[in-house]
Amino acid sequence: MNISLKVMVFIDKNKQIFTVNNNDVEEILFLLQEVYPQAKTALHYENTFELLLAVMLSAQTTDRQVNRITARLFPKIKAGPEAVLAMGEENLAKEIKGCGLYRQKSRQIIETCRILVEKYGGVVPGNFEALISLPGVGRKTANIILSTAFALPALAVDTHVMRVSRRLGLAQGKNAYAVEAELCRIVPPSCWADLHHRLIAHGRKYCRARRPFCHICPLAGKCRYYSEKNSRRLPGEEIPV
Ligand code: SF4
Repeated sequence: MNISLKVMVFIDKNKQIFTVNNNDVEEILFLLQEVYPQAKTALHYENTFELLLAVMLSAQTTDRQVNRITARLFPKIKAGPEAVLAMGEENLAKEIKGCGLYRQKSRQIIETCRILVEKYGGVVPGNFEALISLPGVGRKTANIILSTAFALPALAVDTHVMRVSRRLGLAQGKNAYAVEAELCRIVPPSCWADLHHRLIAHGRKYCRARRPFCHICPLAGKCRYYSEKNSRRLPGEEIPV
């Protein structure tokens, strides 16, 4: 594995200095690969357009709920963006009503479909700038589409990726953009897509936002958060969250 950076130096909120070197990164990537060899998106889709809609719908909505909605919606829009335009904003809003922010999403999806038809021949474009110019498509969504549908090197940072990579000590950025830049510096591009899916899987299974399961976590031995909390722990005391 070709990891270019030798050592990263971080200073945490307690002013403690810690470092992440190539060996740490390699071991974390290896452990994630061992634990989540097949990690992939939980969203159901059959083509790039459906993936785009599913990701747009997933903001503030669980993947399970999105899958319930798209199971009904996708058969009605097999013709792609034109079919969504024909359905219209009001009807689309009814179809996706189980999502958070469904009215805003309905408006953005209709506008996105209009641009796809008028500017891209009804096809989802495979480049970052074009994707983020679509209403409702931000950096994270664009990176998911590029890495998942186009197999291009892109690293999408969502709330799980951000939390888990910060706890593991792979990043310390305070926003998704900063964490993305840090991860892209220390992880080879060929690993970005898998890392995204594996960090999400780990965030859901062990490294939950509240009360992570550190005591049974397979990455505890390489985790900065665990090592810091454990070093301050009294005998018998749980790892604080
Ligand atoms: S040891 Fe705890 S904080 Fe670290 S990755 Fe595992 S669950 Fe997350």
